Amino acid sequence: MVESSAPLAATRRWLKQQAEPAVERLQRWCEQNSGSYHREGLEAMAARLIDDLADLEIPAERVSLPGWEEIDELGRRTTHHTGPGLLWQHRDEAKHRVLLLIHYDTVYPAAAPVHIRREQDRLWAPGAADAKGGILVMHLALAALRRFQVAPDIGWTLALNPDEEIGSPASRSWLRQLAAEHDFGMVFEPSLPDGAWVADRKGSGNWTFLVEGRAAHAGRNPEQGRNAIVRAAQVVEALDTLNEPLKGRTVNVGRIQGGGPLNRVPEVAVVRVNVRITQAADEEQVIHLFEQIAARYSGDGFTCSLSGGLHAPVKVADAAAMLLRERMQKSAKKAGRIVRWRDTGGACDGSKLAAFGLPNIDTLGPTGDHLHSPEEYCDLDTIVPAAQTIVQAFHDFAREPHRWPTRH
Ligand SMILES: [Zn+2]
Repeated sequence: MVESSAPLAATRRWLKQQAEPAVERLQRWCEQNSGSYHREGLEAMAARLIDDLADLEIPAERVSLPGWEEIDELGRRTTHHTGPGLLWQHRDEAKHRVLLLIHYDTVYPAAAPVHIRREQDRLWAPGAADAKGGILVMHLALAALRRFQVAPDIGWTLALNPDEEIGSPASRSWLRQLAAEHDFGMVFEPSLPDGAWVADRKGSGNWTFLVEGRAAHAGRNPEQGRNAIVRAAQVVEALDTLNEPLKGRTVNVGRIQGGGPLNRVPEVAVVRVNVRITQAADEEQVIHLFEQIAARYSGDGFTCSLSGGLHAPVKVADAAAMLLRERMQKSAKKAGRIVRWRDTGGACDGSKLAAFGLPNIDTLGPTGDHLHSPEEYCDLDTIVPAAQTIVQAFHDFAREPHRWPTRH
């Protein structure tokens, strides 16, 4: 086959030269905690990213995202705000456009200790793989695309959101809008520890049961009280019976809150659950069962109210997604990688994009493991091959767009 591979060889050499300074940049990014509720940290991280991505020579746009409501531990509705969305766009008028998305929040709050340790090709640091390493891969790939004019006619959008780790409550409608404007998506969550890419994902949702009773003095008039903690315990037991792991449905009571002084009948208790499902139809059934429980445990001086929902729908490939998998796997192979696929119970923004109609591969970041724990690490030698894969995919898409999923 006659095909000019000169720019690809040049990008490969250039990416290798960039590896070491890129790792230093990653370490600096990890030094800044940016938990989803840590607004100052997110602002500081956003400023650092805007600086460090200036070499793309595209002005960064800050997208302000709406607040969202949560029920706090006392049962009160409170509004939360997170950091800005960040956006860089190349040729938004192009016929073909690719969305590159990842989050810049982490699960590590402001007070989390920052221990950074490197041993040869492995870096332990908060967010090293999930997903600051992913930001690094997309930045390197896009810088190479621009520098070597690999696919100059393909439009692309680089989007970073600040709230993925809590289910993207603020960026959800922004993601919906982005999904509608592109042909397909690349999401830079870390690939699995053995380098595999994720195929299908379970759906995930969080619900809160707010149980309200009546306060009373534990010694003087306990009979007039309605103990919300005791009622909540009954709710917890009922919820636990809904687990059907063999059918792919799990209901995890993850947190209970309530109570105060021991001489007082507690009037509020909050029960929080995470649900995973493998079939889209299960969503309706779960909601129905939850509503039944809320109704059953209301009355006799108690109210039990339900809020929440599925934040990540079930991700199962349709024809367009299957085509994208096949094309990306071919591009990866040309870039020197053998890709394997695996399903997972974890959810991410790739699930949302798919539900909004945008086919996407969502584990295009570097390889890492022990995410969301103090032992999180990133395998540094997977950064350049991951970036080279993206460059190759753009190269292949630009030459044969009709063989890829497109909106046209
Ligand atoms: Zn992530």
